[in-house]
Amino acid sequence: MKTVKFTIDGKEIETPEGTTILEAALAAGIYIPHLCHIPGYGLRSHASCRMCLVQVEGWRKKKGLVTSCTQPAAEGMVVYTTTPDVVETRREVLEMIMSEHPDRCFTCTRDEHCFLFNVCQRDDVVTDRCLICAKNGRCELQKVVNFVGYPQQRFRSAEEHVFPIIRTNPFIERDWNKCISCGRCVRVCDEIRGVGVLTFTRRGKHMVVDTIFGDSMEDTGCQFCGQCVLVCPTGSLMKRVNKYVGYPDYSVSTICSYCSCGCNLQLEMLDGQIISVTPHRNDEVNKDCLCVKGHFGFDYVQAEARLSGPFVKRSGVLTRTTWDEALDTVARRLTEIKDKYGPQAIGIVASAEGTNEENYLTQKLARAVIGTNNIDDGGNPGHKATLKGLTAALGFAAMTNPMADIEKAGCIFVIGSDITQTHPIAALRIKWAVRKGAKLIVANPREIELCRFAHLWLPVKPGTEVALLNGMMQVMVGQELWDRSFVEERCEQFEALAASLAQYTPEQVSEISGVPQEDIVTAARLLATGGRHPEYRAPAVYDSLVYEAGSQGETDSSCLIYGSGITHHSNALDGVHALANLAMLAGCLGREGGGLYPLAGQNNVQGACDMGALPHYLPGFQRLDDEDARHKFETAWGVETLPQKPGLALLEMLKAAHEGKLKALYVIGQNPLLVAPDFDYAKECLEALDFLVVQDFLPTETAQLADVVLAGVSFAEKDGTFTNAERRVQRVRKVMEPIEEARPDWRIICELAEKMQGDGEKAIFFSYADPSEVMGEINGLVPIYGGITCERLEQGSIQWPCPDSDHPGTPILYREGFDRGKGRFVPVEYKALDEQPDEEYPYYLSIGSILFHHHVGKMSMNSRSLVGIAPECLLEINPQDAEKLGVIEGDMVKVTSRQGELILRAEVTDRSQPGQVFTTFHYPDKAVNRLLPFAVGQFPELNTCAVKLERVEETAGEEAEKVLTEQISGAT
Ligand code: SF4
Repeated sequence: MKTVKFTIDGKEIETPEGTTILEAALAAGIYIPHLCHIPGYGLRSHASCRMCLVQVEGWRKKKGLVTSCTQPAAEGMVVYTTTPDVVETRREVLEMIMSEHPDRCFTCTRDEHCFLFNVCQRDDVVTDRCLICAKNGRCELQKVVNFVGYPQQRFRSAEEHVFPIIRTNPFIERDWNKCISCGRCVRVCDEIRGVGVLTFTRRGKHMVVDTIFGDSMEDTGCQFCGQCVLVCPTGSLMKRVNKYVGYPDYSVSTICSYCSCGCNLQLEMLDGQIISVTPHRNDEVNKDCLCVKGHFGFDYVQAEARLSGPFVKRSGVLTRTTWDEALDTVARRLTEIKDKYGPQAIGIVASAEGTNEENYLTQKLARAVIGTNNIDDGGNPGHKATLKGLTAALGFAAMTNPMADIEKAGCIFVIGSDITQTHPIAALRIKWAVRKGAKLIVANPREIELCRFAHLWLPVKPGTEVALLNGMMQVMVGQELWDRSFVEERCEQFEALAASLAQYTPEQVSEISGVPQEDIVTAARLLATGGRHPEYRAPAVYDSLVYEAGSQGETDSSCLIYGSGITHHSNALDGVHALANLAMLAGCLGREGGGLYPLAGQNNVQGACDMGALPHYLPGFQRLDDEDARHKFETAWGVETLPQKPGLALLEMLKAAHEGKLKALYVIGQNPLLVAPDFDYAKECLEALDFLVVQDFLPTETAQLADVVLAGVSFAEKDGTFTNAERRVQRVRKVMEPIEEARPDWRIICELAEKMQGDGEKAIFFSYADPSEVMGEINGLVPIYGGITCERLEQGSIQWPCPDSDHPGTPILYREGFDRGKGRFVPVEYKALDEQPDEEYPYYLSIGSILFHHHVGKMSMNSRSLVGIAPECLLEINPQDAEKLGVIEGDMVKVTSRQGELILRAEVTDRSQPGQVFTTFHYPDKAVNRLLPFAVGQFPELNTCAVKLERVEETAGEEAEKVLTEQISGAT
């Protein structure tokens, strides 16, 4: 790297070429006051506050005064930060800034005697004081004034306008009285978050930061990420929750428990309670960013509804009991059932929200103590398609590249994923890549937010994605656009693939999928060339989105991202195979900026699978039929024989329960009643069990049916590790004690295992002192985690495979070759979904996610702020359809599928296409899964069904909700 040497105030500094004077000075420990600049954030320099003026020796223009945030340091430059010219000009600048800001405490002689929230001795307007500002002591303007000195005041106009504080949403309040127009919030909203909700409005001394037409933030598409609050130097933008509770005693960094981005958080603690969350900077994962759930949705940890101890069912009612009684009951009942019906009569649903260590212990309990492979991380039945498809085609069932790599792509293809809603931080990388010049193709039935950034939107009909993917490959093969050398060197069965594609002409695929022929061709060309196809011209509107018109992405690689729009279909496995085929055909794998990105839902789906919470694999995806692997575990655990036969996955367990074959189910951290298709059938299955145990920290709908409920804890109350979607193992840290009598899940599992075994000499070891001891055992038995020790994780995260403690981890898979030898093309035929609209059920219903809630709602529905912004499950309906049905915004609509019915409130929007409606599965009070048919085959249909719609009276919705509540609680 080229560097330059220069001096600041006589101190010689060496800095990389291109670094601004300000950044170089701050890095060298020299403070230059600044307000509009945010060190290390990567925003374009703005120079609007002009506080960072310095003087450069020998420069005559304007006395050599320059803004150090815009001026790069140069070889031999001599810079001064405290000359009389600098000091005087700075004061004048500060005088202008302070003319608009409350200043009473700055001008008070008692200032030094007052502390936080002190009673003021002056007879001033209350809002004029720093003392009652929640930012007092952390305000950057205070720091600057204290450094520069309070200037004389000739232009004061702050008192001419007193603005009311704006509190229209649960997250952020805006106080224009404290705004200094530095523009930080406006720039992060646009440049970092790609939303552009905030802007400068009005002019002159009336200028304020507002939404463009002065609408509320919620009506302007604000995603409430809170980034604007984080960067506001004053108290103008503040978090509403806990604003006045004071400052934290301490803070601890840990990992978000919502989605599988694995963002690093800083939990701020006061008196043993979480009072706030901020991002913990990690450039590899989330930089300085969080989404609304990570930032504001933490209050579920301290929700009133938390389970504070164990319960057993007595006379049909769950009654609080002691841990001894609860665990004795579970151990006794499971042992009785095992003795009477055999180990296969017991199943365990592990937790994709739990830590790796907990999942490892859960499968050890299942296999070594109970003797069954009936173990499944049951949160997302669709993820199994990724597992099966990618293992068969490539070797590893995981994301191939780090999420940060998306930013380097030349072309990004997102199919079946509303990623800005499900994985908002990964989505930022897409927006940043587009800003650099990457081409973006979005294939989705709905016009999702990402379409605003896309060069091409392919409005594919639900369930026809496989045809579209085959069509794109047909074009690539037909136009000789495929990566011949990659395919010939590294893949097998190309001929079979090429032959299978012949029928998928653009005409044919357009007919099936509804995507225009020319768009199928364009998408194929862009993907095959990393966005650099010579005949492609970006639409003119695109030029306004990027900094430099006509620019290209950082590399000529393409990456493919997919989500539940692929994996929640009954043809999910075909979809995954088709995507793997496409990735290999375009030569996207094993290189920077390329990759295949499956997006799993819950935070630790990847880790739960890695740890063997699967019916077909031992930990580390070691096969059950691999004798050496089995023997290794038998020896390590001291078990004579481990069960060899693959066990049952969640839906198979439910069906077996219905058939009377499965007698007991132990559910940890999951909610099968809402996850499985067909609510009523799932309920019958659970009720058919002889014994149901639920271990969780919040009372789920499934827990209400349980015989015993064991109170676990949230992520904030335990130690361990999570593995995010990109195979990155990260440290989870305990920040608070478990509430009341709740216990960490790893401890409950160990105690139960010990109780089930008694004190015999042959008892399998479960007396771990802490989760790090469990990780030590994992290191020895799971080769991909061999070098991921707790000691190393304290220094930073590691991506598996990492076979030994000298290995640095593997950010990009398949650089040298595929784990299975050669990448295997698996030709797939498009099969239409069973569920097709007809005259009686004329609409497609798609079921997906929204930003403000997560999975089936356990955590987000216990966050007041998240419920406050999105309190009700809505049915998205196109204006044309709404008009046909006589429905207007806010009306109640009865949605009837061939399976069931429910009543939802209408949101009329053209995001959904005519003939298609959309809703979400987050709301337990609606149990949207009642619309889907139960199916035990390879994969259930969890995404789409055919429905009819009918406008109904408002009261019908309330009645339907009451019936559901009674059904769940067993009152009917
Ligand atoms: Fe948490 Fe995911 Fe949001 Fe990151 S993107 S803060 S991991 S929910």
